[in-house]
Amino acid sequence: MSRPRVIRCAACAGRIKPQHPHIGVEDLETGKEFSYHARSGCQKRCAEETATRLGAGKVYAMHHYHSSWCPDEAPGFGCAGGCFDTPMAVAN
Ligand SMILES: [Zn+2]
Ligand SMILES: [Zn+2]
Repeated sequence: MSRPRVIRCAACAGRIKPQHPHIGVEDLETGKEFSYHARSGCQKRCAEETATRLGAGKVYAMHHYHSSWCPDEAPGFGCAGGCFDTPMAVAN
């Protein structure tokens, strides 16, 4: 178990509470992880920035962190707790 750390949103620079739903984009080369709020504006930035970085040849793993009160453990959108209501544009 690691100590709780302050997570900041890479889109709006606001603090992300660890118990709130958020998205992590992990750079598989460096292990550095960019975090974003689950709200739609930050999700949009996340999608755009990740697309840009992917275009630069980087490899990323997306992590969806559900809120601590969410009953749904499965990653992804439309979860039972409503963490990720707004799907990012990955389908098309
Ligand atoms: Zn944010
Ligand atoms: Zn959830």
